[in-house]
Amino acid sequence: MTESATHLLPVFARADLAFARGEGCWLIATDGERYLDFTSGVAVNALGHAHPTLVAALQEQATKLWHMSNLFKSPDGERLAGRLCEQSGFADFVFFANSGAEAMECAIKVTRKHHAAKGSPERYRIITFEGAFHGRTLATLAATGSQKYLEGFGPPVEGFDQVPLGDLDAVKKIIGPHTAGILIEPIQGEGGVRAPSHTFVKSLRELCDQHSLLLVFDEVQTGMGRTGELFAHRRFGVSPDVMSLAKALGGGFPIGACLATANAAAGMTPGSHGSTFGGNPLAVAAANAVLDVMLKPGFFEHVQQMSLLLKQKLASVVDRHGDILADVRGEGLLIGVKAVVPSGDLVAALREEKLLTVGAGDNVVRFLPPLIVSAAEIEESVARLERACVALSANQSKRAAAQ
Ligand SMILES: *Cc1c(COP(=O)(O)O)cnc(C)c1O
Repeated sequence: MTESATHLLPVFARADLAFARGEGCWLIATDGERYLDFTSGVAVNALGHAHPTLVAALQEQATKLWHMSNLFKSPDGERLAGRLCEQSGFADFVFFANSGAEAMECAIKVTRKHHAAKGSPERYRIITFEGAFHGRTLATLAATGSQKYLEGFGPPVEGFDQVPLGDLDAVKKIIGPHTAGILIEPIQGEGGVRAPSHTFVKSLRELCDQHSLLLVFDEVQTGMGRTGELFAHRRFGVSPDVMSLAKALGGGFPIGACLATANAAAGMTPGSHGSTFGGNPLAVAAANAVLDVMLKPGFFEHVQQMSLLLKQKLASVVDRHGDILADVRGEGLLIGVKAVVPSGDLVAALREEKLLTVGAGDNVVRFLPPLIVSAAEIEESVARLERACVALSANQSKRAAAQ
């Protein structure tokens, strides 16, 4: 191998940029440059970088116990599970995993096993939606249903029926004797910040009740405050039977969770599922500390205020730069700007302005600031977007003149 070659499996198209440390909404590159971080590690660092409460919680736990098998009781895990159930307003049980895909894998298994335990093992199929993203394991990839991601990995895991997002007739038509449940993201993150209507989600709940199906919400990206509520489903006034969490749950420490009602989890008996690292004490300490911060009065009001400010400011940039930007969408601080130019060009131009954002499907660029972002930092991000638009417009005119 040549000296510059990487030994990291080249599955990511990485930018030529590395960071040494972070402070709040800022990342400091290895060359000392400061970047405004509106990626939050793809909706993970909800409390920004090096939040003192999280640092203290992890440091304290690090001196006590790093890992404990699930052979023994976990008082801190019990506490975290109890808090998540209480806050969810629907769940009775939590399974801890280490990632979003693992949390989703558990959600899929809970859904299938529920029907098996109720005497209908033939009901294993799950309805999913076009544009979805549920993870990269074989089952969650099949649920995601993207040909691009499935290609070359052999036969996809059987049992997922995909229909267009928002098409209630298509959902009704595909429900059959083998259907076990319906799986949906309250807002599609990777798919391009696409939100189904509240009435659509309410109708899914009604269909599930009519046909004894389980409704599963993938809140891996929308959960833990991202949309301005602890969980996005609060905004619909619709509760699921099963819900997955991950990304922001540990504030940057890997942890996922699958929440379920006692009825949904009816098949999950000792030995039916497991994980070596799931519920790891460091992860649980981080997640309990995240909840400590988020459940303080005023936290979600702040997210909602910053959301309003960011959306208003972005809309005015879109108005002024219709040649570069098309629209603004999303809830809370899960905001997407649909680009006219290729979204990758916009992400690169913003990086030149030292503003970090994330691409998504549908030619959208996601603005995912830490939820602790200040009004001044929002203003700064929008000023940088404005400059990136000016630079992109100038490039376009140059290219047009050269033709
Ligand atoms: C990121 C994401 C996942 C997968 O999470 P990983 O931790 O990468 O496995 C699943 N569902 C949704 C909605 C996501 O945004």
